[in-house]
Amino acid sequence: MSANRPKSGDFRGRYAPEAGSVAAPGSADPADSRSHNSTVPRRASLMQEPVLVLNATYEPINVTAVRRAMVLLLKGVAQAEEMHSAEVHSAAHAHKVPSVIRLLAYRHIPQQSRALSRKNILLRDRNTCQFCGRIFPSSELTLDHVVPRSRGGRSSWENLVACCYRCNNSKGDRTPEEAGFQLARRPRPFTLHTSRQLMRLIGHRDERWRKYLFY
Ligand SMILES: [Zn+2]
Repeated sequence: MSANRPKSGDFRGRYAPEAGSVAAPGSADPADSRSHNSTVPRRASLMQEPVLVLNATYEPINVTAVRRAMVLLLKGVAQAEEMHSAEVHSAAHAHKVPSVIRLLAYRHIPQQSRALSRKNILLRDRNTCQFCGRIFPSSELTLDHVVPRSRGGRSSWENLVACCYRCNNSKGDRTPEEAGFQLARRPRPFTLHTSRQLMRLIGHRDERWRKYLFY
């Protein structure tokens, strides 16, 4: 990873498990225990809670975990804009935990900052098989070349989609038309627009994110 894009690295690393819980709301997610002073989540899970990262201009650009956000605050790279009601306790102190942080220096975000990877394709497609429309855990999805590689199909954002094994098997080495399949959506590159839609999905869990995401 190049040195000038640490943010997108964070994004990839931390975002995916959250996206899984977005895609499958039924799953038991420790981050979903709405912790308004009633029960303080265990420290480990609290440190993994998503934190919205704003650019210096208040533009939402990223989601990271509490642990990483607190490092950015300690380094003086960011300041807290919204706090969680929960706290983490060290031996001597209780520390307030951020829910939204803002970078103090403006960071230029390239239009397309996502690497083409299995994780990012599943994230873009929200763990939904693009042929049968069902949501699966990441482990039960594969990537399908819409136009098969044997037919000159490339490994690109526009030609790779999330696909369950069953659909992948029955499609085989055919195009969707030949197999009688229809794509749920036309595959597109992962842009900041896509990221923002995902942030909004996650943001529905945290009221403190709303004013930054729903404008
Ligand atoms: Zn399927």
